Amino acid sequence: MNAHSDMRVEADVAVKVNLLDFDRPALEAFFATMGEKAFRATQLVKWIHQSGVVDFDAMSNLSKKLRVELAATAEIAFPEIVMDRESADGTRKWLLRLNDGNCIETVFIPEKERGTLCVSSQVGCALDCTFCATARQGFNRNLSIAEIIAQLWIARSALGWDMGDDRAISNVVLMGMGEPLLNFKNVVAAMNLMMDDLAYGLSKRRVTLSTAGVVPALDRLREVSEVSLAVSLHATNDALRDKLVPINKKYPIAELLAACRRYIDGQTSRSITIEYAMLAGVNDSVQEARALAKLLRDIPAKVNLIPFNPFPGSCFERPDDEVTERFRQTLIQAGALAFTRRPRGDDIEAACGQLAGRVQDRSRRHERGRFEIVAAQQSQQAGSQ
Ligand code: SAH
Repeated sequence: MNAHSDMRVEADVAVKVNLLDFDRPALEAFFATMGEKAFRATQLVKWIHQSGVVDFDAMSNLSKKLRVELAATAEIAFPEIVMDRESADGTRKWLLRLNDGNCIETVFIPEKERGTLCVSSQVGCALDCTFCATARQGFNRNLSIAEIIAQLWIARSALGWDMGDDRAISNVVLMGMGEPLLNFKNVVAAMNLMMDDLAYGLSKRRVTLSTAGVVPALDRLREVSEVSLAVSLHATNDALRDKLVPINKKYPIAELLAACRRYIDGQTSRSITIEYAMLAGVNDSVQEARALAKLLRDIPAKVNLIPFNPFPGSCFERPDDEVTERFRQTLIQAGALAFTRRPRGDDIEAACGQLAGRVQDRSRRHERGRFEIVAAQQSQQAGSQ
């Protein structure tokens, strides 16, 4: 080790970089600063994200000198698992505590043909959708790249590192807590790692970002990524959507749907998932089903109906199954593709819109979410008993 690198090691000792914060290009840049070749980044990415190995000493194809240097300057640090619960239907939910004490949730949903991991992108959420538990706790902060990718790493560690066709986690959806497009840079980098063949190797069809409709960010996403897109529509007219998804006041339905068309422009084989939470007596009429089909007439889209998942203090109700089925049939008769998302893991509060996590240092604005936060704490305590 020369005098120069000695000095650098000393200077960095206090604050080690978390290598989970780097996608492959960033890791290549990091190794370049160490005077190492780019292939080192590939080796490290494979160890961490394909083999689940995070002990530098076990990385046998790195030289002893490099391992020592890495251990001195860098770390591979994860949030702490404070709760790990499994639902009667096999859905599994992890409550993860971040460095600053905030907690987030990650959910695994096994199905016959696939296993989907639902990943959070923010602590809390700023968008204030009236039917979502996460909104109740307000917005706290964006997750780092490390905190996003760690959710996949932790789930893979629990479920297995097999990369074959029957891998446990075949799909990732950015549908956990937060609005992913409001944490653009970190979400894009984390998704790049998910899709990197030398890391998790998921195809772009199997990584889906769900947005409430941040139109300018949606256009930016189109420029830098090819992930699949889900859009939370939930209403067919602006008056209602303004109330349910308040960001609609800024980017109304027509603008949002125009951005959807731009997103898949020219990619004939792609389609957009339209999420529609079924709220009894609010947006579940046959007329609305017809209006929805009409809105989507010129967009390659499939509609996912999500029967409302209640949470403590929520003021909506789930419609009867027949109402949801009538809505779906109406869509199909009008030429749309429509599916109903079966509620999964609602016995462990893991269903859509039930993720509450836990926020530290709540401002008074977040006080109204107290009920949910207390409930999350209680269920955490119950889980650890
Ligand atoms: N911020 C992103 C991700 C949110 S969660 C977005 O808005 O798309 C994923 C989906 O669950 C969204 O469509 C969201 O509107 C929906 N959702 C939220 N709360 C719900 C609830 N209580 N019942 C059913 N779906 C809900």
